[in-house]
Formats: sequence, C-alpha cells, structure tokens
Amino acid sequence: MKVWLDGQLLPVDQAGVSPLAHGLHYGTGVFEGIRAYATPEGPAIFRLRDHLDRMARGCSIIALPFDPAVAERACLEVLEANGLEDAYLRPLAFFETGGLGLDVHNLKPRLLVAALPWKSHLGEAGAKGVALLSSAWRRNSRHALPPLKLCGGYVNSILAKREATGLGYDEALFLDRQGRVVEATGENLFIVKGGKVTANEHPDALPGITRDSVIALTGAVRKGLTRKEVLDADEVFLTGTSAEVAAVARLDQHPFGANPITRALQARYAAAVRGGDPTREGWLTRLRPALAR
Ligand code: PMP
Repeated sequence: MKVWLDGQLLPVDQAGVSPLAHGLHYGTGVFEGIRAYATPEGPAIFRLRDHLDRMARGCSIIALPFDPAVAERACLEVLEANGLEDAYLRPLAFFETGGLGLDVHNLKPRLLVAALPWKSHLGEAGAKGVALLSSAWRRNSRHALPPLKLCGGYVNSILAKREATGLGYDEALFLDRQGRVVEATGENLFIVKGGKVTANEHPDALPGITRDSVIALTGAVRKGLTRKEVLDADEVFLTGTSAEVAAVARLDQHPFGANPITRALQARYAAAVRGGDPTREGWLTRLRPALAR
C-alpha cells in the first residue's frame, strides 16, 4: 500500500512520522473519511470537495495550515497509485514537530492521505440492521469542542462505541440532557413516520455529507428529535460516508419492523454514488478526467 505524504507517494512503512508529533500527543489534527466507488466509467470520488471544505473548517479552528486544492490532488493520486476502485480515502492533517507546548504556533504541519480497500465500519450490521444503544455518554458539547472532524474529539465516540459493543450492540446513540437525539458515534440519524422522512437536527452533531445527500434525495425535513419520537417511528436509519444508509433494527429493547422506505432509499443512494443517477453527476469527481486536468 502506498500513502501520499506531503507531496510524495511512499510505501506505508516508509512514511515516517516523529514519535514527538504534537498530533499524536494532543490529538491536534483533522481528518476526513471519503469514499471512492467503481462506476462503469472508472472510479469516482463522492462529494470530494465538500469533504475537503469541511476539513478546511476544522483546520482553521486550530490554525493548522491546509490547502484543499493540494488535498484534492493527493486524493486522486493516492487512489490511482493503489489501483483501487472501491476505496476509503483518509486525509489527515496534523501538527508534527516543533515542541510539546500547547501553543501551536511554529509547529510543522503535515498532510497524509491513505487509500484503503473498502470495508464498512458497521460491518455486517450495516446490511442486516443496526442494534443501537442509547449511550450513557454525552456527546462533546459544541461549546467545548465544535462538531468538526478534530482527531482528539473522536475519543468521545470511542467511549460510546466501546460501551455499545461491550453490551452486544453495534452502535451507540448520543442523547443530550433533555433526551434529544444528537447523533451516533459516526453517523447521523433519520426517522420515517407515516411515509415522511425527517433528518434529526442538533447543534452538537457533525453536519454529515451523507445526511445532506439524503435530504437532497428525499426532501426530508430537518427537525430536532427526541428519543421518544425515534421509538415511535416506523423506520429509523443512520447515514454516514462509511455506513451509507443503514437501517436500525432496534433501539435498546425496542425492535423496528420492515424498512421499505429505507430499503428504497439505499438503492437510490447506491445509484447516485455509483454514477447511475445522471441528475447527481455533480457529486462525483471522476478519477481519470480529474487527474488529466
Ligand atoms: N457524525 C460523526 C460523528 C461522524 O464521524 C460522521 C462520519 N464522518 C458522521 C456523523 C457522518 O458524516 P458523513 O456523512 O459526512 O460521513
């Protein structure tokens, strides 16, 4: 496997990073999770610029230098270099050497992009329906850590994920102190009730790009949901780059039934990401023409 590191494509075991990297010690980095899909016209990256714009917002909040145009080129080159079609792209910008103080001025910024063969982080559960646990952990408050893909912030997701998997669930759902739904550890939440699709809205949740795509595909309304409204729903599903559109089979002890609307949406989403929906061509960055530019 080759990775792209600051302008060079290197075998992963030759891509060296200092053990004193600031990002390793304090989580001072920003990452993205992006998918590339095989299409009949070759690989295409889904909503590449939207992911890199979100990454730029995360970098700016910790004063980490980041150029989305450079990262875009890196994503294309590393996908090509690894000969992958269905892939997960992982750009990571982080502070490396220059000191271990908490003032980030004068630290060396680094940019890594890896391309991994595709594997869903919800695994089998993504296909058979997710067992979702209402977590006892609270989501990072936006007043403490903004909902962007800041590396250190993900320890919060890992705590909730560990709790859920330890109890035999697949995924955890964060609720706030008022019982309102925030998001899952790596996905946003939707419900379907009486045929109407609603996208949960919460200011502590990451503004998901899959969520935005699903709102565009379904005309879903955005609304803050309570746990009770989720339990009363006909169907519940999670959205994320990795999970795509994943049906929830149960929330805590409460099972949900068949998921006809979720299933139809999964097919529409799959068509959009794989170049089968001409009205969504604008969401795709096709590898070969983009590399030739
Ligand atoms: N919430 C969190 C906490 C996430 O990590 C992710 C994955 N990036 C999402 C939601 C879904 O976002 P997206 O659809 O942009 O992948």
